[in-house]
Amino acid sequence: MSENTSRTELSALGEFGLIERLASRIQLQQASSVKGIGDDAAVIDPQDLHQVVTTDMLLEGVHFDLGYVPLKHLGYKAIVVNLSDVYAMNATPTQVTMSIGVSNRLSVEALEDFYEGVYAACDKYGVDLVGGDTASSQKGFIISVTAIGEVEADKVVRRSGARKGDLLCCSGDLGGAYIGLLFLEREKRIYMENPSIQPDLEGESYVIGRLLKPDARRDIIEFFEKAGIVPTSMMDISDGLSSEILHICEQSGVGCILYEEKIPISEESRNAAFKFQIDPTACALSGGEDYELLFTIRQEDYDKVQANSNISIIGYMTESEKGAHIITKGGSTHAITAQGWNAFKK
Ligand code: ADP
Ligand code: MG
Repeated sequence: MSENTSRTELSALGEFGLIERLASRIQLQQASSVKGIGDDAAVIDPQDLHQVVTTDMLLEGVHFDLGYVPLKHLGYKAIVVNLSDVYAMNATPTQVTMSIGVSNRLSVEALEDFYEGVYAACDKYGVDLVGGDTASSQKGFIISVTAIGEVEADKVVRRSGARKGDLLCCSGDLGGAYIGLLFLEREKRIYMENPSIQPDLEGESYVIGRLLKPDARRDIIEFFEKAGIVPTSMMDISDGLSSEILHICEQSGVGCILYEEKIPISEESRNAAFKFQIDPTACALSGGEDYELLFTIRQEDYDKVQANSNISIIGYMTESEKGAHIITKGGSTHAITAQGWNAFKK
């Protein structure tokens, strides 16, 4: 990925000039975006739809490490993780705002790289950047994104709607981002000890891509719309499968059975996990940052979902008294515990 090599100090442009430079290429796409950047507030016309609003904050040293995360990827990911939350409500994202706290350690060119990623994500998902804020930070890069989406009132999907007998499903494959993080942290450690050693990430581009450049599952929400499915509950998988399953069980007042053999894990993730001598299933259950969707559907939607190769049926919901359990490949049953963690937390 090409990065700017010249260096212009932020002070040379000032806040006003900086915003102008970063925002100069915006063209609003969404019909609901009436006014974007440039006034005291953006104006949005939701017409007769419901709007969903979500915010995430990313702090340098807590959620990301500029030692191995390229700024362009960071900008892309900062947008995508918020869009993932919008899709998890069965909504379509329409606008985002981007607020940043920057120290003078970052140059104008570095911020341009960051915004290149922001715009790449906005273009890909068809959302408008309609505002934000810019402040100086004493220490570290601070990012806060708000995403807005729209959905017909009767199609909003919460975490609380799962019922006994519903099928438990997820999109894509799990665990890869966490293994990607293990690789990058290992290479960083080696580099810190001996900067002359070049990173050895050969063959691990899949898991590293899962961490650095995740994508949000717009395709799954579009599939629901086309197939006439409204999931009974849904959320995105940011903290590991087990903790997210427990959220759905708790908020819906149900239990569940999860089958280990049904958990989707890519061949690349499996091989990479073995190199670290860790269990790929543990990565899927407790790793984070996969940004897939976890949802429940009525049994009558089984055939429709079964036909979609991007969706795995991994279990079913039970009455709450039965609790949440996983049946392992060996046939033993264990309670699911919330070991999920945010993989970026140190
Ligand atoms: P105000 O003083 O009213 O907060 P600002 O000077 O901070 O206005 O911002 C001017 C315009 O630029 C506003 O439309 C704001 O939403 C937008 N903006 C400010 N910072 C950013 C940013 N980092 N990214 C995108 N838009 C921004
Ligand atoms: Mg402002």
